Amino acid sequence: DRHHEVVIVGGGTAGITVAAQLRRTKNPPEIVIIEPSDRHFYQPLWTLVGAGVFPPEASVRNEADYIPPGATWMQDRVVALDPDHNQLQTAGGQTIRYDYLVLAPGIQLNWGQIPGLKESLGQYGVTSNYAYELAPYTWQVMQQLKPGDRALFTQPSTPVKCGGAPQKIMYLTADHLRRRGIPDQVEVHFFTPGVVIFGIPAFARTLEQVIERYGIQVHFRHELAEVRGPAQQAVFHLKDEQGRVLEERVFPFNMLHVVPPQSAPDFIRNSKVANADGWVDVDPYTLQHVRYPNIFALGDAAGLPTAKTGAAVRKQAPVVVHNLLQLREHGALVAPRKYDGYASCPLVTGYGRLVLAEFVYGNRPVSSFPLDTTKERRSMYLLKKYVLPWLYWNLMLRGKA
Ligand code: FAD
Repeated sequence: DRHHEVVIVGGGTAGITVAAQLRRTKNPPEIVIIEPSDRHFYQPLWTLVGAGVFPPEASVRNEADYIPPGATWMQDRVVALDPDHNQLQTAGGQTIRYDYLVLAPGIQLNWGQIPGLKESLGQYGVTSNYAYELAPYTWQVMQQLKPGDRALFTQPSTPVKCGGAPQKIMYLTADHLRRRGIPDQVEVHFFTPGVVIFGIPAFARTLEQVIERYGIQVHFRHELAEVRGPAQQAVFHLKDEQGRVLEERVFPFNMLHVVPPQSAPDFIRNSKVANADGWVDVDPYTLQHVRYPNIFALGDAAGLPTAKTGAAVRKQAPVVVHNLLQLREHGALVAPRKYDGYASCPLVTGYGRLVLAEFVYGNRPVSSFPLDTTKERRSMYLLKKYVLPWLYWNLMLRGKA
């Protein structure tokens, strides 16, 4: 049977959470989850894997163990979407039709966009916490830094998942050097195409103090343009406001932590469900597609004006579930549930220190805790290290939170 009531594309954070919540309802729909990977990752842990706090295995489980009872897992990859005919194509050559479609394929990492990067990863001190296989190498390189060395950290000009992750590993590296007693003997540099360290002033002020404390050198308007692995050189473009290249600057390095350029997955970008920037064109509040009412999207692939984080997915999932079921029951969103843009970014600023940035649409800060979370806190670090992973595996992916 190639026709299904609900098809969910992607069995990551968003796909599994939505599937689990749908299956826990009174009259659950028939569900197929299309997901190529047999492993499920808790990516927020990769920052701490890169800092040697956890082994990489702590962030991975078998996908099969998280397919909710009653849902079917199809281990395949979607390669094309045809929303006018309610069908999609898989790499395995199948045509699948659906009544309702939930798009949750995450974000695409475009490593190949920076010349020299792909060939250099995992050697010459070139690393990235954005890949499971590379996060342990970050830790290895960090430990090998010695007086006189230079460590560089980059952020691309595209949207990224977890906007804080390019910085977190830098603060952990700087703290690690401090703990080893060589804080001023290794140069630490941050390169960002932006002109501010963080989009929300209340959190930016705290981060500026952190940068000052560690003696980190920040380079605004700089974007990584090339990696010369064997020579251990990184080439940056200094750009003006219009994005024109003013100057090329070469920095030698011993450690280079790269966050790759990112985009919507190709099969989304090349389909009719995409907006002008390639993301799934959904209503920012109902998460329903603006042209195809039987399609919903959430997570990193959705075109939402908020940060792409797992924390955002936790608030989006019940909205998609409620609205999809309402459409199924009434044929329209008579009383839709609305997402407020909530996202949170736990900015690790050192071993045992964390600034929990929480905000909603309009970059308006909010707080789930009766504390001033713009300050660095040990309690929030412990939340990230122990509480959130437990919550993820045991409640969120089970459709209970
Ligand atoms: P994912 O969880 O990435 O899942 C997408 C799934 O879709 C994958 O399983 C993939 O295999 C599958 N897929 C892709 N293409 C196809 C296709 N064509 N067909 C079928 N399936 C497909 N978030 C936080 O909230 N807090 C943090 O501290 C945090 N830190 C992070 C640190 C790092 C280093 C990274 C990389 C991420 C971090 N995140 C954090 C972000 C968080 O992991 C993501 O925002 C979240 O996983 C998004 O969920 P998703 O379901 O949209 O995407």
